[in-house]
Amino acid sequence: MSENKKENPIRDRYNREFVEVYCPNCKQSKIIALPDEPIPKCDFCRQEMIIREILTEGKY
Ligand SMILES: [Zn+2]
Repeated sequence: MSENKKENPIRDRYNREFVEVYCPNCKQSKIIALPDEPIPKCDFCRQEMIIREILTEGKY
């Protein structure tokens, strides 16, 4: 028996994930909401930022 019932298609559609992204150059980091926001570019060096960590959902 699999307990992997986390993927509910209806819920997923409205499920935002907050992720922490960072710049590989200057290590600036920020938190964005996926999939609402695109992966941002660094404010300083215009480098596309990289996902560092997916934060727990439900933090409003
Ligand atoms: Zn940067």
